[in-house]
Amino acid sequence: MTDMDTIVSLCKRRGFIFQSSEIYGGTGSCWDYGPLGVELKNNVKRAWWRDNVQLRPDMVGLDASILMHPTVWKASGHLDHFTDPMVDCKACQRRFRADKIDEEKWTHYCAATKGNKFDIPAGEACPHCGARRTLCPVCGKGELTDARQFNLMFKTFMGPVEDEAAVTYLRPETAQGIFVNFENILQSMRLKLPFGIAQIGKAFRNEITPGNFTFRTREFEQMEIEYFVMPGTDEEWHQRWIDERFAWYPRYGMRKENIRLREHDQDELAHYAKRTADIEYRFAMGWSELEGVANRTDFDLKQHAKFSGKALEYFDEETKQKVVPYVIEPSAGADRSTLAFLVDAYHQEEVRGEKRVVLKLHPELAPVKIAVLPLLKKNDRIVETAKRLCAEFRKRWYSVYDDTASIGRLYRRQDEVGTPFCVTVDVQTVGDEKSAADEKVTIRDRDTMQQIRVPLEKLDGIMTDLMAGKWAEVAAVADYKIPPRAGSD
Ligand code: ATP
Repeated sequence: MTDMDTIVSLCKRRGFIFQSSEIYGGTGSCWDYGPLGVELKNNVKRAWWRDNVQLRPDMVGLDASILMHPTVWKASGHLDHFTDPMVDCKACQRRFRADKIDEEKWTHYCAATKGNKFDIPAGEACPHCGARRTLCPVCGKGELTDARQFNLMFKTFMGPVEDEAAVTYLRPETAQGIFVNFENILQSMRLKLPFGIAQIGKAFRNEITPGNFTFRTREFEQMEIEYFVMPGTDEEWHQRWIDERFAWYPRYGMRKENIRLREHDQDELAHYAKRTADIEYRFAMGWSELEGVANRTDFDLKQHAKFSGKALEYFDEETKQKVVPYVIEPSAGADRSTLAFLVDAYHQEEVRGEKRVVLKLHPELAPVKIAVLPLLKKNDRIVETAKRLCAEFRKRWYSVYDDTASIGRLYRRQDEVGTPFCVTVDVQTVGDEKSAADEKVTIRDRDTMQQIRVPLEKLDGIMTDLMAGKWAEVAAVADYKIPPRAGSD
């Protein structure tokens, strides 16, 4: 299993993800997506949007503002319930989630060994004196305060005067923007039940214990759907969405053995939920949530109707009655899915005695789709053809041109960032004094490292097939076969 440090270091080295404000020492739990990271995350969001909005006649999209009327958070229950129990260390002032504190290793000064300091694994007792943790797990010295409830919403002030009247919050979930627009969307789009509203956007939570890279941060992006259904059909729709969302991740290459569904226990359910199932990924730190699929009943629409005084109902033509729809909510994290796709794609292999790091990302998600590599950078015709090809590819697929190393190094570089295909232009492609141009280029497949040689005029159609996962079919065409060249990989 790939540990997080390996991924963090690859991400920094290859321009995927950097620590925020790094030159000032960094900002806790905030991360910036670099040139390749933004492509990857955009591709994840684009795939989600296409599958859940563009391809579905029962879905529409929304982009609501982050700052909302403060009463939204009273009505939704976030002001009263969006809290974690927290304890403080009286000595070092560190703060911990009371319900998670025994999931971390703890520092212990053991009286039975003259006060020697030990790191004891999570949940275990000291092997020397048998003591269990009662003090601060980090400094090992301070007593902890009683648990207090800590609201996770970021408070801010709207308008020029910082007085209480102008207090508002950065949204802790995108969902509420959908509920408060229910009536606007229903009327303007003339929708019939069942229908869904999808939104991708930033959410903010002042997490007490952020960590594990981009898995738990204080600013993150959600991809949420609120799917409105007739009461009574909610349980069936809930199951359909659980199945649909569970099938989505493997469609983009995530290995099935690394994801699972976890049903929430009754006492774990959020105050609004009738049933919730989480989709979890097997990270190095253990199975962890990627997405929650909840049956939120009619809780939110009823709450907003109560607090706003506006009816949030649906007129059923068949029964001629007004109903408050039930809502199924598949709520995914864009950052967590991106991280899981990265971790899942990471492979280390040995090729002819050398280590090869390769990100086996689905072509749809890969940040760079094609790298165009000139075999000789001093040959003007090769360079000019390669640059022209790259410009042509860029119209459809994000592609790069690179001539800054030997071909073997260039291949490795592209493997490490997950580029599915490299196209090489060489002397035969453009011809020289001795032989005429063959007008063909070499395409190398990232995963198999196989190579084929194809005519330039057919390149567009071939690339389209390759992006659709048809390497084996294309490579089987007799005309395209070339014997593997020693040392070319
Ligand atoms: P957790 O139990 O891990 O705190 P949650 O159950 O509170 O998560 P939800 O409120 O269901 O999370 O949010 C839906 C999705 O938003 C999560 O499945 C996750 O992908 C993402 N998400 C939530 N909190 C964070 C965070 N702090 N950092 C990154 N992504 C997050």
